[in-house]
Amino acid sequence: SAAEARFIANNPLSKAQHDLAVGTLPGGNTRTLLHTSPFPLTIKQGKDAYVWDIDSHKYVDFVGELSAGLYGHSHPTILRTLTATLSTTGLSLGATTTHEHAHAALLGARFRLARVRMANTGTEANLHALAGARHFTRRRKVVVFSGGYHGAVLSFPEGRPAANCVDAGDFVVVPRYNDLELAREVIMGVGEGELAAVLVEAMQGAGGCIPGTRDFLHGVQAAARERGALFVLDEVMTSRLAPGGLGAAMGLTPDLVTLGKYLGGGLAFGAFGGREDVMAVYDPRVEGSLAHSGTFNNNTLAMCVGHAGLKEVFTEEVCVAFNAKGDAFRERLREVAKGTKLVFTGRGSLIGLHFIEDGEQEITCGEDLAGKERKDLRDLFWFEMLEAGFWTTRRGFVAMILGTPDEELDRFVETVRAFVDRHRGIM
Ligand code: PLP
Repeated sequence: SAAEARFIANNPLSKAQHDLAVGTLPGGNTRTLLHTSPFPLTIKQGKDAYVWDIDSHKYVDFVGELSAGLYGHSHPTILRTLTATLSTTGLSLGATTTHEHAHAALLGARFRLARVRMANTGTEANLHALAGARHFTRRRKVVVFSGGYHGAVLSFPEGRPAANCVDAGDFVVVPRYNDLELAREVIMGVGEGELAAVLVEAMQGAGGCIPGTRDFLHGVQAAARERGALFVLDEVMTSRLAPGGLGAAMGLTPDLVTLGKYLGGGLAFGAFGGREDVMAVYDPRVEGSLAHSGTFNNNTLAMCVGHAGLKEVFTEEVCVAFNAKGDAFRERLREVAKGTKLVFTGRGSLIGLHFIEDGEQEITCGEDLAGKERKDLRDLFWFEMLEAGFWTTRRGFVAMILGTPDEELDRFVETVRAFVDRHRGIM
């Protein structure tokens, strides 16, 4: 397309870097999601709520490190804590520290977790939570949902475990998210005494920013318990949407919760926690407990920076105001896109963008989108937003950053309006 041709012409250094990188990294890439055709932009720097590529274009950062970059690139509290931790405490100490306790206590209070353990990523948090659930229940099977993303080796696109899913045979996938009847059928269909856990997101994040309904989530929680299984809520993406996480806002009472992303202040981070009796499977004083190791589980930088961010910056009040701003932003975008193929989903500060044949159609799960997505329009949108100085994910995802100037949000709304007007004939 003409937009793609302009992209190639405007980004010679990114193209050259990609040509070089493919000689070292498969596809020139180390995070599959970040690959974009014909080549990805190479980003060289971030400051506040902006990033710059190596061809020196400046963008408003709407990728927000897939929600981990909540604080932006240079929040003073984050930078100050990083520097202070480096100079006074040092790096990972290979020892129990007060820092891990302080952060665990704060996470526990905020997200109502009786006991907490740290990990390095959201993927790890989910792997450990499931291992704990299996050990506690002495069962193996786990029910998950189509479109669910719980980490690199725990994803379930299109109704089945991805090719690299671990223990794929132990997962039973409900073929539609937000379909309680189907979910109950699948949960009750797992053999008596076999179901260890039901693992679900309160809003599918990578699956398209599709919120779960209250009835669906409560029904799934009840069905899990009826079957004697643990209800595990993946809040890696959604914990930022409400002061106690999206689960608390929905009135859910999960047995285990997994966390990650911004809760490490922008550094690699994961955590899991919940019921005292379940988490006791990780108590090393108990004979036969599970080993939960990990060299960097309690690394001082993530512990201290994550703690300072949550305690001093992303307070409950800030969380509420930030997500209200996100809701208002989404409403303005919806208004602009009314009557077109562009649909905005999500909740609070997380926004999904979809181009579908019938823009009036309700989106309740990934299957609603199957065969109806207009990838050509989505690509055109991505190229043209880049030209206007907005860095979004190619697949259609915006994770807002604290401190993005209101004028940039206004400018984005106007840029989307201009896009819709310019392409009215095909929209
Ligand atoms: N769970 C959910 C809901 C996620 O969105 C993600 C990451 O996008 C993960 C788990 C995995 O987290 P990480 O990328 O830190 O391993």
